Amino acid sequence: MTSLPRMAGPLVDSFGRTVRDLRVSVTDRCNFRCSYCMPEEGMQWMPRDDLLTYEELARVARVCVERFGFDGVRITGGEPTVRAHLPVLVGMLAALDVDVAMTTNGATLPLLADDLRRAGLRRVNISCDSLRRDRFAAITRRDALPQVLEGIDAALAAGFDPVKVNVVTMRGVNDDEAVDFAAFGRERGVVVRFIEFMPLDADGAWSMEKVVPAAETVAAVDAVFPLEPVAHGPEPATRWRYRDGGGEIGAIASVTQPFCDNCDRVRLTADGQFRTCLFATDELDLRALLRSGATDDELAGALAAAVGAKWAGHRIGQVTFVRPARSMSQIGG
Ligand code: SAM
Ligand code: SF4
Repeated sequence: MTSLPRMAGPLVDSFGRTVRDLRVSVTDRCNFRCSYCMPEEGMQWMPRDDLLTYEELARVARVCVERFGFDGVRITGGEPTVRAHLPVLVGMLAALDVDVAMTTNGATLPLLADDLRRAGLRRVNISCDSLRRDRFAAITRRDALPQVLEGIDAALAAGFDPVKVNVVTMRGVNDDEAVDFAAFGRERGVVVRFIEFMPLDADGAWSMEKVVPAAETVAAVDAVFPLEPVAHGPEPATRWRYRDGGGEIGAIASVTQPFCDNCDRVRLTADGQFRTCLFATDELDLRALLRSGATDDELAGALAAAVGAKWAGHRIGQVTFVRPARSMSQIGG
């Protein structure tokens, strides 16, 4: 990679929000079929030639870091660990000297955790929506709870710090497990984060009735393990610590208390489309730019123009809300 002159400074959108966090999806494929994310069958996979190469992904990340001072890159998918040679990409991103993190379902971490850590991955979020094996299998359509729990242990043993466990809470599905997850987090020394169910499922089963407000989940935990709020930065999770010093939980109230006013994120899909919001209805075709010989100046200019047009927020629950054409696994969660 050539070294480039640094540009003017941070990317600020027209609402005054500074964008500094890039989420890169490396694949739309997955070894699970979580009901809130993918249909059991019939996903149309992206053609392999459309996937950005690791060099292309790392180039976009480098432009974001060098030109606009981005300070974090999160690798996601689909399931990022099903893409071959992921530690190679981690190494390329770590060389940019930014915080490199990953969101994963954890099932392959018993095999990969050490290699990823050695390549420079610093933090990992592992998704797990039930601690009951039958329920986990019903949600993910894979009987893989033992592997995921092993994956959490492998992440801790590899030295990731913190290890966070993401739980999507859904009414009538797993809303009775908040306290069990809190106890699990306290015991294992992981930060459990409860995420509200968002309208990004592939089969359109989402409804407002299925959303469990994060405040309700936090209250359920607080009743058993008393909590106090933790001051935090622009991240979407509100944070709570146990009054007895037993660790922390997080709550991500994307639906009932949107954090759009503080949003500092942009996303790159595995097929090279740049999105300024998880719920965006339009995308910038960076793949076309990358593959037509665009210079770094041209890439930076296109990114700045897209961020300049970033909207105020997603409006879930309002009549004006429009579901994006892509589901979570296709965008990159
Ligand atoms: N496969 C990885 C995983 O499951 O962690 C990374 C990709 S996944 C799309 C990223 C995150 O999005 C996961 O924590 C998952 O639980 C969450 N997610 C997927 N669909 C969702 C939905 N409809 N509402 C809320 N969160 C969702
Ligand atoms: Fe796969 Fe993650 Fe979607 Fe589940 S949430 S189907 S693990 S991409």
